Amino acid sequence: MDTMSRRDKTDEAYHGLEQGPIRPPSEANSLLIRVTRNCPWNRCTFCPVYKGARFSIRPVEHVKRDIDAVHKYVTIFRQMGADSGRVLPVEIRNAAGKIESWESGAFQAALNWFSGGMRSVFIQDANSLIIKPADLEEILVHLGRRFPWMERITSYARSHTIARIKVDDLKALRQAGLNRIHIGLESGSDLVLKMAGKGVTKATHIQAGLKVKTAGMELSEYVMPGLGGREYSDIHATETADALNRINPDFIRLRTLAIPNGVKLFEDWQAGRFEKCSDLMMAKEILLLIENLDGITSVLKSDHILNLFENLEGAFPGDKLSMTAIIHTFLAMEPRRRCVYQVGRRLGLFAGLSDMESPRRLARAEKFCQQHGITPDNIDDVLDELMKRFI
Ligand code: SF4
Repeated sequence: MDTMSRRDKTDEAYHGLEQGPIRPPSEANSLLIRVTRNCPWNRCTFCPVYKGARFSIRPVEHVKRDIDAVHKYVTIFRQMGADSGRVLPVEIRNAAGKIESWESGAFQAALNWFSGGMRSVFIQDANSLIIKPADLEEILVHLGRRFPWMERITSYARSHTIARIKVDDLKALRQAGLNRIHIGLESGSDLVLKMAGKGVTKATHIQAGLKVKTAGMELSEYVMPGLGGREYSDIHATETADALNRINPDFIRLRTLAIPNGVKLFEDWQAGRFEKCSDLMMAKEILLLIENLDGITSVLKSDHILNLFENLEGAFPGDKLSMTAIIHTFLAMEPRRRCVYQVGRRLGLFAGLSDMESPRRLARAEKFCQQHGITPDNIDDVLDELMKRFI
């Protein structure tokens, strides 16, 4: 079943505002409104986020109460800041002293959102569009009434789900304010998608992406370098590029594969059924992906701490050459210097190659390599451990 109605939900009491565990990096300042809990699919072999957590749909009335509670405190903060343009810490402390305990989540969410400029809302959790379109529309309309100044409402969605929603329903959601969808494409290769347990095909990804665009929403597609492992690295890159060329999403976002303990892919890796790409292979894979992206106007972003080049960013077609030049430079580096970059990147010292020109940062990365005996021969093993910190 791909959409669920209010009938599927149990009678449950309202205990105050709920927020889920994750949001895209680009939604750091967004108000998080939780419509469903966890992931209705929950079978991707690389994904640790909702393992062991049961999927459920929150009653629409509860979501609206969350929105009302945040609205109440946002209104108070706006009144406090009306004269001076800023809210003083002492005023916040006074307000916090008067709230009911069940409203503390809403108070904190309102404060964070107010501090972040109150421009965007992110609908949680992993696949919010699985609920009945009319229910989501009701929530969006309520959001719009409470916060008419919002510029953006966004959500994660699975392609499998989008492909089953009528375009008219998507258009109605767009009309109600939902203007950007984040899809975990991960790969355009059917082989890789099957291996990763993604539960979707390249054709469905393309169909869903085109539908989102037809509905007039912005589309952000997440790609996972490394997901094909060594065996399928090339086909992963070329097939993903082909899918993206057909969709022409507004944004292509890279989020490199990491394999935490406890996921199915970890078992496959330990058992030798999956061979991880080294950073060097990953760089070649991303190069192949970008070289094969053609005829699109998407903006590529690499804004995730797990990525080898955080500042690999640009708009197609104009910035394609400058993006590939970054990777060519990395590949041409002397192995020991490349090793220092890889470590400095994962320690958060470097966002890109140009940061190696900072003598202070470079010295810290070199010192770390020396202290821990990191060389081009053992770098891949060391990085596996470092990357687990960011999953
Ligand atoms: S659909 Fe998304 S949240 Fe659900 S298991 Fe897959 S990657 Fe994780």
